Amino acid sequence: MQKLLKTYFGYDSFRPLQEEIISHILDKKEALVIMATGGGKSLCYQLPALKFKGLTLVISPLIALMKDQVDGLNANGIAAEFINSTLSYDQIREIQTRLKREQIKILYVAPERLAIGDFLDFLGTLNVDLIAIDEAHCISEWGHDFRPEYRNLKSLRKNFPGVPLIALTATATNQVRSDIIEQLNLQEARVFLSSFNRSNLSYQVRPKKNALNELKTLLKKYAGESAIIYCFSRKSTEELAAALQDENLRALPYHAGLDVEKRRKTQEQFIRDEVSIIVATVAFGMGIDKPNVRLVVHYDLPKSVEGYYQETGRAGRDGLPSDCVLFYSYGDKIKHNFFINQIDDSDQREAVAEKLARIIEYAEMQSCRRAYLLEYFGENPDIILGGQSCQSCDFCLTPKENFDATEITWKILSTVIRIEERFGLNYVIDILRGHETPKVRERQHAGLPVFGIAKEQKQTDLLEIIELLIAQKILIKTSGEYPLLKVTDEGKTLLKTRQKITLTKSTIPKDDLQAATTTRAKIKKEAGHVVSDYHQDLFEELRVLRKSIADKKRVPPFIIFGDVSLREMAFYLPQSNESFSFITGVGRVKLAEYGEDFLSVIRNYAQSENLADRLAK
Ligand code: ADP
Ligand code: MG
Ligand code: ZN
Repeated sequence: MQKLLKTYFGYDSFRPLQEEIISHILDKKEALVIMATGGGKSLCYQLPALKFKGLTLVISPLIALMKDQVDGLNANGIAAEFINSTLSYDQIREIQTRLKREQIKILYVAPERLAIGDFLDFLGTLNVDLIAIDEAHCISEWGHDFRPEYRNLKSLRKNFPGVPLIALTATATNQVRSDIIEQLNLQEARVFLSSFNRSNLSYQVRPKKNALNELKTLLKKYAGESAIIYCFSRKSTEELAAALQDENLRALPYHAGLDVEKRRKTQEQFIRDEVSIIVATVAFGMGIDKPNVRLVVHYDLPKSVEGYYQETGRAGRDGLPSDCVLFYSYGDKIKHNFFINQIDDSDQREAVAEKLARIIEYAEMQSCRRAYLLEYFGENPDIILGGQSCQSCDFCLTPKENFDATEITWKILSTVIRIEERFGLNYVIDILRGHETPKVRERQHAGLPVFGIAKEQKQTDLLEIIELLIAQKILIKTSGEYPLLKVTDEGKTLLKTRQKITLTKSTIPKDDLQAATTTRAKIKKEAGHVVSDYHQDLFEELRVLRKSIADKKRVPPFIIFGDVSLREMAFYLPQSNESFSFITGVGRVKLAEYGEDFLSVIRNYAQSENLADRLAK
């Protein structure tokens, strides 16, 4: 197995659970595999397919994905094909002939094909050893992308008695899981469940204040690399894409209001590294298996934690460090509430509101975001993180300190009460700092005893302290378009009893983008130098070469080599066939096919910089 893994896929070791699943399948037993996005589910049926004498049939919901998967397998020297509606009658005939001659190991098929009797009959004449059902959650109405055609899959049981089934998905809710088992009659199957922790992703929530500028800074840091930015509305995707284009960033909008052809083209440009930034509604993503998305931004608040996890899951499938940044403002919460209030059905309205409440909780909380996500999906963060800080969310990465907030809290609470809890946050801060704005003058608040009571404090510090007090439920912000600041009962008691209060604040100001950028640097260091200390300029040259080969072959660049492979090349500087074959992703076929092209670029670079092959004996 190890040998097949290197020879065909170019990998040195299995990812968690892959080996167990593969042995199980080689024993001709059934399985339900639940593994996070990017966990490496495909390999679980692709590698057994190489060992089986007969055919492995793969059901996959998306035509675009099928082509990429097949291109990827072919590039590794594995005989694979797909049959779907994009092929002509003659092309299908040709593939059928090769299937009959047993010249194909893996066949991808769209679920709607299985409704065609003739086609099923044809499949029945073949020697099928394994049936894999990818994205198996599509069979369940409880899931997020139910595909009625997936119900056709029930017929597989009848038509292929005795052929083992393996169902794979990244969706783990219990409801969906039992639905898959029932629909596919998988009662005997062993369930393989891997952790949902995506350790190479960093999670950050940023206050949505200077969001456009921050976004530009983030995108410049990732210059030329792939990013997805999710927005709430179609209109805002267009506006934001235009604003980014003005900055000479290669960005395109994507939403369900664009015509099919335009959407297809945009998606293809993204997959082929011709445009690096997609500004999209949630309509974008299903069917994007691009392994090297380095950044997923939520420019507006998502609707649920499930949605958020799924969308951020599109970052870093290749396992390299990638960032997920959510911009959050109170205004977004109000916007969502407005739409929720328009839902007529009260049960449905409550369900939607509950989902929203959880993502708001995530955005506002003052503790580890990864731990929250793990817990949300029913895992135990203490076990997964070993009781340690996750080191890759904004909370865990920001150094903190405790401070005595007794006096300032007293000042803030008195001020809020003095102005009868009838004003918003910014107004309260103006009074505290003694800012005589026109509004203050108009209301004659400059004469209040609390006016200027916290003159020495910076605006941003006061803002942070007030937010901390809100988090502690000492203050509360009302809902509505103009939220007011009020003191809770707890706050009132505190004020009366003059209790001592200690708050914990970050030592880096919240609106300092530095905090966001350190995350990446930190993970990079931990993931080992290959990921960070590679020669960036050589990496760029290799990327250009990869793109030109990909264009010639009419495949996406990642089919040729992934970013992991290029980074390793730009770190180890292999200069012989032997060294080159040690690089991740270099199997037998890719060595023969692309070795010389890449080696010559590396040799030139190494020579001019006077650098040695780090893999040479
Ligand atoms: P999933 O379907 O679970 O989202 P994929 O099968 O698409 O994940 O794999 C995600 C990425 O991980 C792909 O780029 C794949 O080539 C890579 N990968 C899978 N298994 C391994 C492995 N054992 N070693 C290195 N890379 C792997
Ligand atoms: Mg997959
Ligand atoms: Zn954390």
